[in-house]
Amino acid sequence: MRYKASDSLLDLQYFGEFGGINPSISDSSTYTFLSAKTMFDTFEGNTEGCYLYSRHSSPSNLYLGEALAALEGTESANVYASGMGAITSVILQMCDAGDHIVSSRTIYGGTYAFMKNFLKKFSIKTSFVDTTKIEAVESAITSNTKMIYCEGVSNPLLEIADIKALSRLAKKHNIPLVVDNTFSPLSIAPAKLGADVVIHSLTKFINGTSDCVAGAVCGTTEFCLSLKDVNNGAGMLLGSTLDSIRAASILKNMRTLHIRMKKHSENAQYLAQNFEKDGLRVVYPGIPSHPGHTIMKNQMTSEYGYGGIMTIDVGSLKNANDLMELMQKKNLGYLAVSLGFYKTLFSAPGTSTSSEIPLEEQQQMGLTDGLIRFSIGLDNDIHRTYKTMKECMLQLGILEDLKAMI
Ligand code: PLP
Repeated sequence: MRYKASDSLLDLQYFGEFGGINPSISDSSTYTFLSAKTMFDTFEGNTEGCYLYSRHSSPSNLYLGEALAALEGTESANVYASGMGAITSVILQMCDAGDHIVSSRTIYGGTYAFMKNFLKKFSIKTSFVDTTKIEAVESAITSNTKMIYCEGVSNPLLEIADIKALSRLAKKHNIPLVVDNTFSPLSIAPAKLGADVVIHSLTKFINGTSDCVAGAVCGTTEFCLSLKDVNNGAGMLLGSTLDSIRAASILKNMRTLHIRMKKHSENAQYLAQNFEKDGLRVVYPGIPSHPGHTIMKNQMTSEYGYGGIMTIDVGSLKNANDLMELMQKKNLGYLAVSLGFYKTLFSAPGTSTSSEIPLEEQQQMGLTDGLIRFSIGLDNDIHRTYKTMKECMLQLGILEDLKAMI
């Protein structure tokens, strides 16, 4: 039977101080000890249940971590001040100077820039490959490779990682597989498919209110503790700690994730199907024309659908910009980066979230100028949204031949 992440998540039971039904928020950066010996032992990592200093851990962050471990079906999870805080901690924890990473070439622009540019400081090299081709991943592996990295559903091209196949390969070479699951919480459970570490930008669907930036790393207890180690832990020493008050608000928002994901997916599926019928170049994993459709279908938990993100190529950057401005005017959503909000968000990744990727490489991977990435919102009447979006395209003459259909 498929792993029921939402049940594990909703089954968690907390009692706050005074019998509150939400856990109490730990509003302290530091914690007292009745004995100096216990303080020393805690510092050494030998005392469970004792808190020392909130950069290391705090009750609120542990509650959120527990919920994320339940979501992904991992032993443990740590939370961070951003998705990038989580990603950079994992990479720097797993790789030493001179090591090598095999990464998908279509990943979030910030992750790409970190691997390609920042890691030069440590002489860590990354081979960016098409991870949908398992042979390409295998031939990029060297004796120094310390990580295979991909996104479950990639940003912004929506390539689908075959996590079982990648995990088999990773295990064959004894290399950890790290999957960023930001685009597909609940739909895909990478750890259940064999990934060793699952990363999230909580900023997106998991929090769902676009009011904060946060991240998470889900994995074994051993790995999560290593990130917190006072002497060598990248999480502890780089300091991208999530504030307790934010951890508490994200935990509350997570309780509606299962409902929101179903609605995001249902709406995106409706728009993708209809715009494809209208002759637009739509990319959405839920339509059979998507090259990763079957892989996604076989590895997903079907009740959550194919996710809330789709792309449409409207031919040129000018078309994309004109259309996004008009859609915002018509209150269809916001011309904004990020995803997972109740309103639709749209941006042209080539000039925004993926602008770190050089033009030539964007072209090689099929990231065109006219590509708009949509994070589809929770609209109650998606048919009305569809009609208004289509009217915007007609008004701009983007698709003359749509006229006949309206
Ligand atoms: N991973 C993915 C797939 C993303 O789309 C993003 C941000 O857009 C990140 C990671 C980085 O997350 P954050 O902005 O929370 O640092």
